[in-house]
Amino acid sequence: MPGQQGPPGAALSAIARDVAGETPRPAAFAEVPAADWTSWRWQQRNRLRAVADLERVIELTSGERDAFEATSGRFRVAVTPYYAALMDPVDPACPVRRQAVPSAAELTVGPWDRQDPLGEERFLVAPGLTHRYPDRALWYVTHNCPVYCRHCTRKRKVADPTSATSRPQWDAALAYLASHPEVRDVLVSGGDPLSLSDDRLLAVVSALRRIPHIEVIRLCTRNPVTLPFRFTEDLVRRLASLGPLFVHTHFNHPRECTPEAARCLRRLADAGLSTANQMVLLSGINDDVATVKRVNHWVLRQRCRPYYLFQADLAEGIGHFRTPIQVGLDIIAALRGHTSGMAVPHYVVDAPGGGGKVALLPDAVVGRADGVLTVRNYQGKLFEYPLA
Ligand SMILES: *Cc1c(COP(=O)(O)O)cnc(C)c1O
Ligand code: SF4
Repeated sequence: MPGQQGPPGAALSAIARDVAGETPRPAAFAEVPAADWTSWRWQQRNRLRAVADLERVIELTSGERDAFEATSGRFRVAVTPYYAALMDPVDPACPVRRQAVPSAAELTVGPWDRQDPLGEERFLVAPGLTHRYPDRALWYVTHNCPVYCRHCTRKRKVADPTSATSRPQWDAALAYLASHPEVRDVLVSGGDPLSLSDDRLLAVVSALRRIPHIEVIRLCTRNPVTLPFRFTEDLVRRLASLGPLFVHTHFNHPRECTPEAARCLRRLADAGLSTANQMVLLSGINDDVATVKRVNHWVLRQRCRPYYLFQADLAEGIGHFRTPIQVGLDIIAALRGHTSGMAVPHYVVDAPGGGGKVALLPDAVVGRADGVLTVRNYQGKLFEYPLA
């Protein structure tokens, strides 16, 4: 419960502290009535889209102002007032700010960068439907998001409003799924599917639920991070009735781990929805063990499991976010054994051109000889184990 207290005089437990209070609002929004501030519709309507909007909340550097101009037309800008409230108003290196405010580095295209790094087009089986793996499919139902993440892998699609799928196209995707009994798991993605109205979203989920061979439905959404008020009690109750439903979200930094976000994740879990976090490893934002651990421990306290740690993809315009592979491997090595296994995500790269996700693991196997496997544990000590 918000503001729940322990025994008199006792310090709040971490569990109670996570959901206590409110995120402080910037002066520009101090007068907004609470009923508006916590309304997802108000937040959507009042998104910051222009330089002047952002300047009401943060001091843009001249470089950021120029980048805003230079990148416009390539990738949209929008920031919910709630997400803007998480930004440091003066520090351009603020991890929230870097995820949402354009930078000139987005114009740089490296030799490995591609427009469609995952080769999703190659596996398109119906408008907006990618069937890449044997038993699961990924369905893009919208190109809109409350906040446009500067590191988005689907930049090209999300940037192009004409790429959105329309109602008749939905029917084609549903017809494909209905006639492919091998598909037992569907990821509803975008854009952010929670950009749809409640009725349209529920229409999508219930249409999937009516297909008998579809067992698992996942909603891939960053709303718990960028617009936690989106998951109203009413919507969550209606979604829960269509379960088993999984909500896969995308927390990257402790600054995003607010009481509002904690209440959102707990509401989902309380209703019986299963939640998981897919973090993207971002240079200068979360590319160190302490930051990843803090986020992972926080999401676990909200009953959300760290699932993936993604290497930033080879999408054009996000090269400045990419970290060396060794950084990701070192983070996993520093987590495994040192903290709850539940706090250790799979570190994955998406193989360029449609190879799919490949999990990378730090080498635990030191040798394999004379019927003996030699392994290294988390403390660096060596142990032998019979191979057969
Ligand atoms: C990531 C992804 C999935 C889901 O993969 P999991 O490993 O099951 O989470 C499905 N289809 C596509 C195209 C994907 O990129
Ligand atoms: S919410 Fe997801 S799809 Fe939308 S911009 Fe962010 S990463 Fe891309």
